[in-house]
Amino acid sequence: MDEPRLFLAHYHELALKGRNRSWFIGTLVDRLRESLAGLGVKEVRAFKGRIEIALHEEAAAARVADRLRATFGLANFAPAVRCEADLDAILAAAPAVLPREAPRSFRVRATRGDKRFPCTSPEIERRVGAAIHETRGWPVDLRTPGFVLRVEVVTGAAFCTGDREPGAGGLPVGTGGRALALISGGIDSPVAAWRVMGRGCRLAFVHFHSHPLTSRRSQDAVRAVVARLARYQGASSLTLVPFADLQRHIVAHAPSSLRTVLYRRMMLRLADAIAARLQAAALVTGDVLGQVASQTLENLAAMEGIARAPVLRPLVAADKDAIVTAARDLGTLPWAVTADEDCCAVFQPRQPATRASRETVTAIEAGWDLDGLVGAALAGATDEWCAPDWE
Ligand code: ATP
Ligand code: MG
Repeated sequence: MDEPRLFLAHYHELALKGRNRSWFIGTLVDRLRESLAGLGVKEVRAFKGRIEIALHEEAAAARVADRLRATFGLANFAPAVRCEADLDAILAAAPAVLPREAPRSFRVRATRGDKRFPCTSPEIERRVGAAIHETRGWPVDLRTPGFVLRVEVVTGAAFCTGDREPGAGGLPVGTGGRALALISGGIDSPVAAWRVMGRGCRLAFVHFHSHPLTSRRSQDAVRAVVARLARYQGASSLTLVPFADLQRHIVAHAPSSLRTVLYRRMMLRLADAIAARLQAAALVTGDVLGQVASQTLENLAAMEGIARAPVLRPLVAADKDAIVTAARDLGTLPWAVTADEDCCAVFQPRQPATRASRETVTAIEAGWDLDGLVGAALAGATDEWCAPDWE
């Protein structure tokens, strides 16, 4: 086909049931408009249970498709042409979405949203299929076609679409409230954040860094990760919090085996305060049960009750291979910093406790000026915006 001037997208109807439906669709359309700004898109509009994305002559369809792939809430999308709800019009329009190269076989799939249309769906499929078979000579294969031409008849219009691609699925960002994601620069936390974003939450991000104990690399890696995640929700807020002084304090005032748990409790305390400031209703972490010493059930229990906001752990039962694959697909894997750049690795004990009791850590912290420590770290925090890293 020639460069498409229209994309037709579908969303998951089931997820959008009920009273909120029009608000969900409105949010999805707004998100698309924002994401597609500057690409020569003429119009984004909801129409009969679908979304039409119309392009100006000069728009680059491949760049538009990239943005559609990164839009939560879309079930699928395809290059399309629109015509009148009339069989002759459909026959005339369909060639525009056929592939240039002959596929090994093809079929037509029709849906009729308007039952007043004079042909049934199987009739549309037969008529359009026969016309293409005659003009192009392509073999028809109903079971495993190499190409599927879809014809969708709705009230007042018909669409023919070519190669359909799956969308990101999930719910449109902005429909699920706000949360604050703790991004460590490792493999897991960006995937965890992405999963929560896919349930409609707009995220802000926070990273604790040990500069000057470590290089600035972890901060740059986290900026890159947030810029990639921003593809899914637009420019994103990143708070960088200096953590080295707190680590020094913990090293000086607690047994080495409890350092990791105490670090993480401090992070949750700080994140909770930042979440309150940003009006985020939950925290998101990349914890995976049992993966490392800090993430045993006992140690997760020792972090409970620190944050006022609920802590979402979408990867808690995920398997490492699946997380690595997801990070690779998302494009954040190359940014995973080496262990020695990670602030958790600073002063890491050789034998971190796998069973830190809450009573023990609370007793240690009881002698500290927690407000002072937290206040000092927050005073050094900086906020920045990370734009999506499109090209
Ligand atoms: P990850 O790949 O997410 O770093 P990990 O296996 O290294 O996972 P931990 O270092 O134990 O996990 O951290 C668990 C979670 O705590 C992280 O997924 C992240 O959400 C949060 N976290 C840890 N370190 C930091 C940090 N320096 N800044 C922000 N969040 C952090
Ligand atoms: Mg880590």
